Order: sequence, then C-alpha cells, then structure tokens
Amino acid sequence: MTVQNSTPMLRQYHELKRQHPGTILFFRLGDFYELFFEDAVTGARELEITLTARHKERGTPIPMCGVPHHAVAGHISKLVRKGYRVAICEQTEDPTLTKKLVRREVVRIITPGTAVDPQLIEARESVYLAAVCGSGERMGAAFLDLSTGEFRATEANGAEAWSRISADVESYAPREILYPSSLNMLFKGARDEAGADSSSTAPNQGAVFQGVALTPLDDWLFTEESCAALLREQFGALSLAGYGLEGKFEAVRASGACLRYAQETQRAAAAHVTDLTYFEPQDHLILDQITVRNLELTETQGASGRGRALFDVIDETMTGMGARLLRAWLLRPSVRRGEIEARLGAVEDLSASQMNRDRLRAWLKEIADLERLTGRLNMGTASPRDLCALGRSLSQVPPIRRTLSESQASLLQILHENTDELADVRSLIESSLSEEPPAKLSDGGAIRDGYSPELDELRLLSRNAKQTIATLEARERARSGISSLRIRYNGVFGYFIEVSKAAAARVPPNYERRQTLSNAERYTTPELKEWETKVLGAEDRMTQLETEIFHDLCLQISAHTKRIQATARALSTLDALLSLAETAVRRRYVRPHMHDGDEIEIIAGRHPTIEALSEEPFIPNDLHMNNSTDRLLIITGPNMGGKSTILRQAALINILAQMGSFVPAEKASLPILDRVWTRVGASDDLARGRSTFMVEMTETATILHNATPRSLVLLDEIGRGTATFDGLSIAWAVAEYLHDSAEHAAKTLFATHYHELTELAERLPGAQNYQITAAERDGEVVFLHRLEPGRASKSYGIEVARLAGLPPDVLVRARDVLARLERYELDVFAEEDQEITAEASAPEAENDWDSWALNEAGLKTAARRARQRRIATQATLFDATNQGLLDELRGVDVESLKPHEALEILAQIRKRIV
Ligand code: ATP
Repeated sequence: MTVQNSTPMLRQYHELKRQHPGTILFFRLGDFYELFFEDAVTGARELEITLTARHKERGTPIPMCGVPHHAVAGHISKLVRKGYRVAICEQTEDPTLTKKLVRREVVRIITPGTAVDPQLIEARESVYLAAVCGSGERMGAAFLDLSTGEFRATEANGAEAWSRISADVESYAPREILYPSSLNMLFKGARDEAGADSSSTAPNQGAVFQGVALTPLDDWLFTEESCAALLREQFGALSLAGYGLEGKFEAVRASGACLRYAQETQRAAAAHVTDLTYFEPQDHLILDQITVRNLELTETQGASGRGRALFDVIDETMTGMGARLLRAWLLRPSVRRGEIEARLGAVEDLSASQMNRDRLRAWLKEIADLERLTGRLNMGTASPRDLCALGRSLSQVPPIRRTLSESQASLLQILHENTDELADVRSLIESSLSEEPPAKLSDGGAIRDGYSPELDELRLLSRNAKQTIATLEARERARSGISSLRIRYNGVFGYFIEVSKAAAARVPPNYERRQTLSNAERYTTPELKEWETKVLGAEDRMTQLETEIFHDLCLQISAHTKRIQATARALSTLDALLSLAETAVRRRYVRPHMHDGDEIEIIAGRHPTIEALSEEPFIPNDLHMNNSTDRLLIITGPNMGGKSTILRQAALINILAQMGSFVPAEKASLPILDRVWTRVGASDDLARGRSTFMVEMTETATILHNATPRSLVLLDEIGRGTATFDGLSIAWAVAEYLHDSAEHAAKTLFATHYHELTELAERLPGAQNYQITAAERDGEVVFLHRLEPGRASKSYGIEVARLAGLPPDVLVRARDVLARLERYELDVFAEEDQEITAEASAPEAENDWDSWALNEAGLKTAARRARQRRIATQATLFDATNQGLLDELRGVDVESLKPHEALEILAQIRKRIV
C-alpha cells in the first residue's frame, strides 16, 4: 500500500487484514461488504462481479468490489465451497453515534470446515472439520461437525499409524484438515500439487485428500496440556478418562486443536459440543474411499449422472438429521453383533405395521433439524423462526413417544426412554414467541403479546399511533379550517403537517415551518414534536427490548442443550430405522441371519441398485462362501454377463446387513466382516499422475497387506492394465496369495476373463470355479445372468462389441481374425513337435497389430507364440513352487539325517509338489 492511499479507514482495513492472514476480508461499509486489493481481484473473479477501483483520482487506484449486505450469504457460500476462508468484518458501533471513524471488528471467520449456516451446507450431509497430528509411529485425529456438535477422536500406533489415520480421514471425508506446521512434509505433496502457499488466500485443496482445504497451524496450538485443559473445561470434567482419552495424547492434541479452531473462527464457545467419542478402527466395518466409490455407496461413478447410489435407494428419511445418520451407518457399518441385531429387531418391528410407519413418518416430517438448530442456538446465530421450529418440533414428540411405548423391539423402547418431551422448553417457547415470527429479529414482532408488560405497553403506543394521528389531523383541520391539511411521515423529517401552498396563509400561528416544496409547505407543532419523540422512542425501545428478550430466551433454552441433543439423537435414529423398514417393505428385503461363523449363504440374492433402477427383471442368484472349501471363487463368463454385478451384490448385501438393514434376498445368513476390499474396474487417477495399471497395483498391494480372514475381497479383472502374460501371472499369484496366506486369507470373489485362472480351482483346496451363463440363440448371445458352478468357455467379446455399436466392417474383420487365431492355434498344436521353418515377419510384441495381423503367416506365428508362451507361463508358475522345493532339498544335510526325519521330509515334499 502506498502512503497516499492511507486514509484512516484503509489503515483500519490493513490492521484487520494483518490480524487475519489467509482470509478474504469482507469489510462492512454501510449497506455493502467491500473487498479491496488482491481480495477484490480474487472475489471479482470467483464471484463473477464487477471489479472497480477506489482513489482513481490519486494516481494509484485500489482494486475494489462489493456485495450488498442482504445478498452476502450466497457469495460467502460460493467462496467457502471453493475452499476459501472468509473473515466477516462488521461495524460494531452505530455510525450515527460517532463523528470519528466507526469501529469495526471481525465477528466470524467462515472456513470450509466450520461453515454452519444453512445456506452454506447441505441439509442431508455432515460437515466435518478434522485435525491430524503426531509423529512417526504415533498419530491422532479428531473430527468435529460444528453444525451439530458431533465430536470424535482416534489414535493409531505403530508402523501403519499414518495409513490408518488417513483411512479414517477418508472415511469421514472432512471439508478441512488442520495440522501442525511441522507436519508440512506429510501434507506437502498435497499442497504442492495444489500450488498452495500458507499465507495466500488461495484455497489449499490437496490432491491427496481431494477437495479438502488444508490448514497448517502453529505447532503450539497442539500442545497436549493446553489441549487437555480446553477439553476438560468444555465438558466440565475433571478428567478425560471417562471419554476414553486416558493416555491417548495424540487424540487429545488433535481434539483440542480442532475445538480451539472452531471456537476462534466462530468467536463462540460452541457450548453444544458437549461430548467426545473415542473410537478405534475395529469399532466398525472399514470401507475405504476406493471401495465406497467402486460400490457406489453414496455417489454414482458415471459422468453421465445416470443411475442411483445405494444411499438413494435406501434413503426414505424425513429429516436432515435422519439422513445424515443413515449415511453414517452406511459408510461405517457396525461390527458389533448386539448393535446390528438391535437395529434389525427395530426394523422388523417397524416393518410390521404400515399404519404405525405412516403415522411416525408424518410426525417426523414436521420435525426440524434439531441437531443443527441446537448448534445455531449455542453459537448465537439462531433466528426467531428457529425457536419457533423447535417448539413445533417438540409438539410432535408426545404422539411419537406414545407409539414407541407400544413397540416390542428393545431399541425402540430405548428410543422411547431417550426421547424427552421437553415440555418446559416447549411451553417457554409457546408463551414467549409469536406464532409466525419474522425471519429477522430486527423486523419486529417476534415476541408474543402478553409475555413482557413493557413491550405490550410500547406496542400499544405504537399501534395507537395511527388513531392518534387521525384524531390530531381532524382537530388541526377544524382549528385551521384547511380541509386539505394532512399529517404525514418520512424518514428524514419524521412527522409533519402538510398544507398546500394556497392554504399556507391560513395556518395557525404556532405552526413552525420545516420545509417548502413547490406546491406545499410542511410544518410541525410543539405538541406533534413531543408525541413524535414518544412514538419513535417506543419503536427503538421495542427493537431493543425484543432483542434482549430473545437473547435471554436463547440462553434459557440453550441451558437444555444436552436434553435437546439426546432427543434429537433418538428422533434421528428412529427416522433412520423407519427408512430401513420402509425400504424393506417397498423393496421386499428380508431380515438376514447374522452369526459369528465365517459362512456367507445368500439364497436368491439381488443387487439393490440395479434392481431398483432397471426396467428389466433382476435375476436372483445364490452365493455360498466360507473360509475353508469355498474361500476363493473364480468367476468367469461373457462380457456383460453379470460378473461385476454378483461381486458387488455380495458386498452390498453384507454391508446392508451390518448397517442394520434388511437385505435383497430370499434368505441370507451372514458373518460379521471386518472390512470389504474392492479392486473393481480400471480407473486412471490422472489428478495424482498415476496410470491405470499403477493405480490397480497400488490398490491390490494394499489389499494383500491388510486383508484378514474376516474380510471380503472383490477382485474384478485385476491384471488387465498390462500385457496379457504379465497380467495373468500377477492375477494368478494374487489369487494364490489370498488363498494361501494364513494372515491374509480373506474370502475372495475373483471375476476374470483369464480362463487360465480356472486351473486354480483344480490346484487349491479352497478355490471353486463359477460361471455366469449365457446362451446363443440364432447366432446372438443371450445373457442368462445365472451364477452356476463350472468354468465358462467363451467371452462373447465380439458379440458385446456388436451390441455396443462397433461398425459392421470391424465386426466382420474381428470375427475373421478370431476364427483364424483359433484355427491356427489348433494347427500349431498339431505341428507342435515339428520344427518351425518359415519364421514369418512376426514382431516380438504380441499386440503389434499393424505389422502382423494382416498376413496369414503372421497370424499363424502369433498363434504359435501365444500358445508356447502360455504353456511356458503356466510351467513357470508351477515351476516356481517346485523350484523352491528343489532348493530346500539341496539344503538338506543328508549325512546327518536320521531315517525317520528323511521319511518326514519325503512326505512333506510329496504333499507340496505341484
Ligand atoms: P464385463 O466382463 O464386460 O465387465 P460383467 O460380466 O462384469 O461384464 P456386469 O457389468 O456385471 O457384467 O453386468 C452387465 C449388465 O448386465 C449390468 O449392468 C446389468 O444391467 C445386467 N445384469 C447383470 N446381472 C444381472 C442379473 N442378475 N439380472 C439382471 N440383469 C443383470
């Protein structure tokens, strides 16, 4: 800034800007919020508003843009959604009461993770602020939904600490992550890729956690002692042991930093953050982001936007809070049998009576988002309509409780007990607030007549004003004899008596002239002035009094925060359970039998989303898996046959069951899984600069390192992103590893077009072949979508290509090439022992079509090579095992061997030989 720009107001601006680095400052100037300097340039660009300049005449214009105060919410929302942090600066004294520069203060900072206004956030989605801290083998994380007060923390130790914490971060999908600056290196990759710089206002969106604002904070803000003290003070507790935080220093540090940041940005104590839940990863079924995406749990993958995610299929909730809870159940299903059974029991009970369901849902529909309303109440942003909505919501509670009291299910009985009618709060609201309060307190009329005698009196005065004016006007007309005399009001002069120019000579002597217009004169009288002071004073006092009464009401009600939160929690649970019951009835789902064993037994299972979406009838399939004879199912079948569908269906049914939902099947008996892993389809991750194959292998590696016998692994076409033989070899080895490893032998569904893999079923005791059936009718493939034991013989790739609309010429040529490849492979088989004399010009790379596909000799050689290499690969795969045995044999010291030891070694070798 140059010196000539430096007016007192600009100096005030710069001081506020200095105190709030990294934010876009919305500077209140009268009825506008103005942005200056680089903020104005950014704001104009992002908000698509006009960039102007101030002080143009002084030679160094200051870039500036502004938005009217009544439209500010939409603009802030736009910036925050893009990852910016916005500081709101208000005039904190009445400009009319000071002759000097009006005082201004930043009253709130809105960041992506701390946005709480309804305009800024989705009603049906949680908004988490996260904090991550720790070092090396000890890391902690906290997740706070400031809009509702939900607060969770965790900690991880050991070599896998960071990968575990990042899995939690993925699961909660926060909008903003806080971390100590010393951890910059950990987040550096993300920040560098986003081109971020901590002091700039540019949104710090890391690519590692996509769409997340990354906010480094000074390390001292994570000091364990001060964090623990802050948490104890917030919860009014002497110790944090009761919150599961004893010895969990990193979790305490993360939670403290998270809470402090929330309080400081909001400039509020956030008293609705009344509790904190400590959790461990094994507390729920883990679904990483890749799995959530692949299984389309909450969003569909296709760019077309067609289709629906599983959440959309099962979401019949009536409230935002119910929808958020249902989503949390889906993303973090339970692993506790008791909890799952309790939810299933409640869903069964609620499914039994359509009438009860309809009534309960109708009452819930009238209930506001009490969780978020409590948040606003405690952060000083609740409106009169919020309180009114709270009162209306509470009036729905008694009939809900009566209905719940008749239920048999234990969870519904617990909900009945936990739902507080809050009659005291309700009657306080009903007695104090008017039935249709204004949106803004300043509009007046929020407080009910009869609640405050002083307010009633002022209102009377103000209401009688009209009558008084009319009486006064009539009297003055009679007194002056001027029939056109009027008493009027405007904002500048207040009340005045107006007479036409022609009648001006006749006004009584005590009239004082106020203003002369072209055809009228305006006057006042001492009596009118006195009366005006009283009336106008009354208006001001009324506004002031209503504000005081309202704030007092908010204070009284917020004293009941915990009770309101408990009721909100019970109502949202009821809403989520009702949604599951409604879905179960509408979609013919059944209650699954959950057990502690390892067997998955699904009779006539269906894919919940395809079934809901498709016009065609869905063909149900059975599925049987266990950890012994059926732990690796190799599924082959034609393209478009339904391999991916059966894989996903198995996972979705188990996930639904563990969230407490009935499942799309005739019958299902299911184990409690610890984790579902998927490697489905091939997807480039260009944002992170990784190729399809690299992504595929990274994801596969994670599965192999972390799967357990209680996991379910879906592998769809792995190894397809590279040359056939590399891919086949990898697929083979991965399948074998998952089958054999004692630690990582998970139940695995493996869909593949590598027919060679069906060999595995012959060799591995726990592997089975399944095929998806298709038939040919009149030369056309008919997909039967049936899963049956056995291996498929054909892929029908060209048929599917025809369905996809490949040009006829290409199809004819493809059929021709395929026929010849198959024929030559047979020929080669016959000639196998003969020496190859005519070595045609076939290239080394097998898919180098240009050079060989067009000549017969080339095709022949390609077929020969393919076959030889396939045989060689299989031989190598088996040889690798045998080679290991030979090496071990060579290492045996025969001289020192006793006969019985020799026999034992011999027996072992026989067992292991391939
Ligand atoms: P590709 O090998 O080409 O990847 P795929 O065998 O994995 O194919 P899917 O993607 O599972 O095939 O299924 C293709 C389509 O077939 C699905 O989109 C679905 O519409 C339909 N489909 C699959 N299974 C069934 C079923 N059991 N009943 C009805 N339709 C089904």
